[in-house]
Amino acid sequence: MAERGPARHQQRRRALERRAEELRRELVEHGAHPETGALRFDDDAGFADRSHTTEERSRLIALVGVLRAELEEVERALEKIDRGQYGVCERCGRPIGDDRLDAIPWATLCIDCKRRGRR
Ligand SMILES: [Zn+2]
Repeated sequence: MAERGPARHQQRRRALERRAEELRRELVEHGAHPETGALRFDDDAGFADRSHTTEERSRLIALVGVLRAELEEVERALEKIDRGQYGVCERCGRPIGDDRLDAIPWATLCIDCKRRGRR
């Protein structure tokens, strides 16, 4: 039997916190501010220096955008645990489902709404 209820949420909270930490670290490694995603391209920054080509920069900007978006979702999921709204679909209000939350603990939509959103 799988754990249910608050204990399960605590488990997911730990997974989310670990993921948030990983994402923040990756952002910093790419020379981005973990909260704003702002990139340091000036040469005192030591990382993203002038040797970057325009193409490398746009790749980096795209990557940082993806990491930031994921971090925001993870942080939103953590806030929802605090408010007791975790695991509820943001669109239809139905439970997201344990299988989906196990796979993607920061999911904000149930699988049906997610599929509909892609159309
Ligand atoms: Zn839904």
